[in-house]
Amino acid sequence: MDAGAAQPVLAIDLGGTQIRAAHVAPDLTVSLRRAVPTNGAEGPDAVIGRICAIAAEVRADAARAGLAEPIGIGISSPGPLDPWQGVVVLPPNLPGWVDIPLADRVQQKLGMPTFLERDTNVAMMAEWRYGSARNADDAIYITVSTGIGGGIIARGNPLQGPDNTAGEVGHLTIDMDGPLCGDGMQGHAEAIGSGTAIARDGRLLLELGESPILADLAAGGREVDAALVAAAADAGDAACRAIYERAYVAVGVLCASLVNALNPQVIVIGGSIAEHHPELRDVARGEIDRRAFPGPARRVRIMSPRFTEDVSLIGSLPIVNERMSDPAYRRASSSTALPPLGTDAASDGHSGASTSSAERVGGHAQLEEPR
Ligand SMILES: [Zn+2]
Repeated sequence: MDAGAAQPVLAIDLGGTQIRAAHVAPDLTVSLRRAVPTNGAEGPDAVIGRICAIAAEVRADAARAGLAEPIGIGISSPGPLDPWQGVVVLPPNLPGWVDIPLADRVQQKLGMPTFLERDTNVAMMAEWRYGSARNADDAIYITVSTGIGGGIIARGNPLQGPDNTAGEVGHLTIDMDGPLCGDGMQGHAEAIGSGTAIARDGRLLLELGESPILADLAAGGREVDAALVAAAADAGDAACRAIYERAYVAVGVLCASLVNALNPQVIVIGGSIAEHHPELRDVARGEIDRRAFPGPARRVRIMSPRFTEDVSLIGSLPIVNERMSDPAYRRASSSTALPPLGTDAASDGHSGASTSSAERVGGHAQLEEPR
């Protein structure tokens, strides 16, 4: 897709704490921003109502401001989800969301073509089309924050897999006997390298009485989170510093394994932990040089992202524009609101294109079972 031919979109970022919406222009200008609390505890209907309300507000604002009408809506959401059917499957931080047809619900309310994608894949699309991984045929995006997530570009196409879980790099096992991950499985990268893991290890230090500086910082009743462990490390606490060092190495080990398995030209490492601790990327570089094959290790570039908090809004620009004419993303109830199915040429590069809806739904049943 030629980026210059893109049309503006209405981007929605559904997060655990807030819902954001904005108009995103083809020149990447993000405007007419709106945000409301998610209040996920109120359940899917209330949250979808809020999504539709701020989407309608941004659309009306765009008309008032004389901006070009968005051609469609792109929703970034926590996974797992089905981007082809537009269904949110079972996000861990949105209670009561089980197989919610979010894209159809929003499309019916707003009367605009609506597309859904996992938040980390949306971020990857922004960095791949417009950012630090631009034009790379083989690239990996990794976000290191509360959790660890990612997205993969392989041979010039987003790698999705039949269940759209490809790119969930935070849940690669890097320590067979390691700590439990949030999903209950053992030794995943996220269980050692994420902000959640850093906070857990900080709390353990406190319980064991092994970090006087962290104990002082937490004395006022302040919650022990990754930022407080960082503050203690910065104040000279060796144990807290060791927690961060181990987290960086975990991300580096993950990167080295990905370099061997996927031979990427570039790995973009973003997320709040990477943003606040750029030394993470230096450690990752060192671990790749130590642990990966020499050729791919020399080739791969470790980059910081171009985009920060707007990454999950900007990523909807290529997603909506490129999927608008892709038959892999037609949904049953949307057939009247959309142009007829395109030809095979339009589906080039989308791994889901050749899979029938029934097969995909079958894949989902398998995905949900272990959870
Ligand atoms: Zn995991």
